[in-house]
Amino acid sequence: MIPGLMQTTPLLISGILTYAAQAHGSREVVSKRIDEPLWRSDYAGLARHAAQAAHALRRLGVEPGDRVTSLAWNTHRHLELFYAAPGIGAVLHTANPRLSDEQIVYTINHAESSVLFFERNFAALVERLAPQLTTVKTFVMLSDAERTQGDAFSYETLIAGEPETVDWPLLDENAGAFLCYTSGTTGDPKGVLYSHRAVVLHAMAGGLNSAFGFTAFDVAMPCSSLYHATAWGVPFSAPLCGAKLVLPADKMDGASLHELIETEGVTFTGGVPTIWTMYLDWLEKTGRTPETLKRVVIGGSAVPRAMAEAFKRRHGVQVLQIWGMTETCPIGVVATPTPALAALGEEAMDEAIWTRQGRLQFGIELRIETEDGQEAPWDGETSGALLVRGPWVVRRYFRKDEDAARADGWFDTGDIATLDANGFMRITDRQKDVIKSGGEWISSIDLENVAAGCPGVKVAAVVGVPHPKWEERPLLVIEAHDGADVSKAAVLDYLAPRIVKWWTPDDVVFATVPLTATGKIDKKVLREAWREHLSGL
Ligand code: ADP
Repeated sequence: MIPGLMQTTPLLISGILTYAAQAHGSREVVSKRIDEPLWRSDYAGLARHAAQAAHALRRLGVEPGDRVTSLAWNTHRHLELFYAAPGIGAVLHTANPRLSDEQIVYTINHAESSVLFFERNFAALVERLAPQLTTVKTFVMLSDAERTQGDAFSYETLIAGEPETVDWPLLDENAGAFLCYTSGTTGDPKGVLYSHRAVVLHAMAGGLNSAFGFTAFDVAMPCSSLYHATAWGVPFSAPLCGAKLVLPADKMDGASLHELIETEGVTFTGGVPTIWTMYLDWLEKTGRTPETLKRVVIGGSAVPRAMAEAFKRRHGVQVLQIWGMTETCPIGVVATPTPALAALGEEAMDEAIWTRQGRLQFGIELRIETEDGQEAPWDGETSGALLVRGPWVVRRYFRKDEDAARADGWFDTGDIATLDANGFMRITDRQKDVIKSGGEWISSIDLENVAAGCPGVKVAAVVGVPHPKWEERPLLVIEAHDGADVSKAAVLDYLAPRIVKWWTPDDVVFATVPLTATGKIDKKVLREAWREHLSGL
């Protein structure tokens, strides 16, 4: 080997901020806030505030390698911490406020955070948790001095008067930057410690045309939470591409999102399906349409085909499905068009894009393994365990002795999927959600997808329920739209021509569908609630 003779400048998160401030300094950053008026700044302003926050963190005694926690929404102060904490070599643990109290306490204690930054409307939550937090020494409310109550510092007071520039230290690019915990639907949440290198490479990949495809003319509004796998890296990809950034805080209802889309000219947004169910519903009721919106990225759970169709046909908005996990920073695959698909005609292309989670992206290798450990062919048919590998895939969970990935680098995602010749991946189920009926598998995702298209259905959830003869059979739980008149017979009639007969759910029940802390259908709760249901039929 002969060493290359190029510079080895580390890939650092502070580099993204410095670049954005220099190249796109006047590009806006707009943020809703909690009980405060809309915030309007730009990337130069973000860099100034992040520098002040970095000085303040040091003043609080935060050193490289230390962890600090945020309990915060998609707001500009949270964004400032996204750059300030990793910028000085500390790690930002983005706690998920939708976890149970016990789990939030677990993650903060496990992270051993010394400072807790929290949004004003988490004051009661923080007061409740504080006695159990064993390592937090400083509490900072993300608010101005006037509005800060209790013993906490005010963030604005804390950073005021600090210098507006900082010499970001030259860190090792493999240093930890973000600590994101999985939602822990089984067992304790597990910490995934993103490195600077992983975040920067992931941000560059996210901006590519095969993924989100940002240009400097885009206006990006991330509606996936900043605390959930860093909102898919949009807080990094957008500035890296010079796109304007709009942050909706916790206001994810249809009217609030629409107002921001209209007034700020949002062209790109993204989030979990539940948000878009609400938004489409709101558009339907009000007869409005998002004029400026061009692309919406949806993922976290499978995107019902009916949702993608409604966005495109009624509102001219392209849906890009994304699949990923906390363990993959989170971008795995994104469903974007290719010439090969376009050549098949628009309808065939839509069909391919709407029925698959997405396509192979540079930086993430994919492999489907059958039960005997062999690689499955990329034929779009053979399903098996989905493995991933690459520079933004987890190697080991935080403070665990064992590696999470295998010695050859492959990480088992726990999903079952197929891959086709064009590199498009389709998830058929999570390993633990697959329904095993008489030795055959039924895909709960496919069934849900069809049922979600039935008129009046808001959410469709399918779980395997113990059955005396077939081991398990599918039960369909429907949450209908307010005021919709949907019957079991209507749902079964709708399904009949669209699915193979033996997949027909053994019963259809109407109930509110429980969601997890990351907005997914909580199948564990559903399985528990309905486990006796078929034994009595
Ligand atoms: P958690 O498991 O903590 O809720 P993650 O966001 O890490 O949070 O979940 C990752 C899992 O979400 C994936 O393994 C997959 O099962 C599911 N998922 C994500 N995106 C999609 C998608 N587009 N279609 C189907 N499942 C998805």
